[in-house]
Amino acid sequence: EQSSLLTTFDGTGQLADGTLLPLLANVGGAKDAQEAAMANAQGVGLLRTEFCFLGNSTEPSHEDQVAAYQGVFEAFPGKKVVVRTLDAGADKPLPFLTDSTEPNPALGVRGYRTDLTTPGVLARQLAAIAAAAATTEAQVWVMAPMISTASEAADFAALCTAAGLRVPGVMVEVPSAALTARHILDQVEFASLGTNDLTQYAMAADRQLGPLATLNDPWQPAVLALVQATVEGAIAQAKHSASLETSLPKPVGVCGEAAADPALAVVLAGLGVSTLSMTPRALPAVAAVLRTVTLAQAQVLAQRAVGAPSAAAARELVRAGLPALADLG
Ligand code: PEP
Ligand code: MG
Repeated sequence: EQSSLLTTFDGTGQLADGTLLPLLANVGGAKDAQEAAMANAQGVGLLRTEFCFLGNSTEPSHEDQVAAYQGVFEAFPGKKVVVRTLDAGADKPLPFLTDSTEPNPALGVRGYRTDLTTPGVLARQLAAIAAAAATTEAQVWVMAPMISTASEAADFAALCTAAGLRVPGVMVEVPSAALTARHILDQVEFASLGTNDLTQYAMAADRQLGPLATLNDPWQPAVLALVQATVEGAIAQAKHSASLETSLPKPVGVCGEAAADPALAVVLAGLGVSTLSMTPRALPAVAAVLRTVTLAQAQVLAQRAVGAPSAAAARELVRAGLPALADLG
């Protein structure tokens, strides 16, 4: 009984009071997507398309791209699949997009910014995503990595519209995007918090450097405050948007590794995020712990974490309020 709780996810993410919190998977291609479907993920919250083409020295052809995306969509008929456009650069260089001689690659031309130096690749990728989407029952959403301003979000949304893709969104993984989420969400339909890079950039600590691991911790209250600011931005955008018929905020999910930490997942739920996307291995434990708290309890724990003086204190305060964690070992 206990072990089945830990090794399986029944396919419905929810809190103790019945509040639904869909749990999605982060995948890098068709094989991962099949495994995620076997693990009962409720969809794909992050398809890292650069993982499909890490071995390519040249831009993948339209046909190769369509096949790669179709392979993922086929694993999730009727479900949401969020495709992220190529996030090349820094820790994931792609020879056809990135300049390996940049002095500060994490602060350089990476993610969406490669459209400045290599125009056309992004538009061709969006055309391939749209072609693959036309042949599937999956609900295809598309988002850009490393968006820093509302103007970039608007430019990306225009490219999506031109390609016939109807649900454009952005990753919020740069502090400037978190702090201007209200204006960014005027331009796109959803946001997805990338807590790995959001932590790296909030703490000014290279995510690949072991000695900086204490700084590179999504429990850092500064990072949690940026998550909170993003959700608040979505609420403000909904309140002030011209379409008064719906005041529901646009979705703000999380697709960074933070979502895979059960105690941090509770904090993120309490901060008001609408979905969590993670490595499929993490689904059972995250789902089990989420079911032990109501939304009101998660909100209390989240405010304690945001108000804590350190990452360690935030973690301790939340763990102390989650007796279910002890059962997970
Ligand atoms: C992130 O930055 O949190 C994220 C999900 O993207 P990646 O880890 O691929 O940079
Ligand atoms: Mg990132």
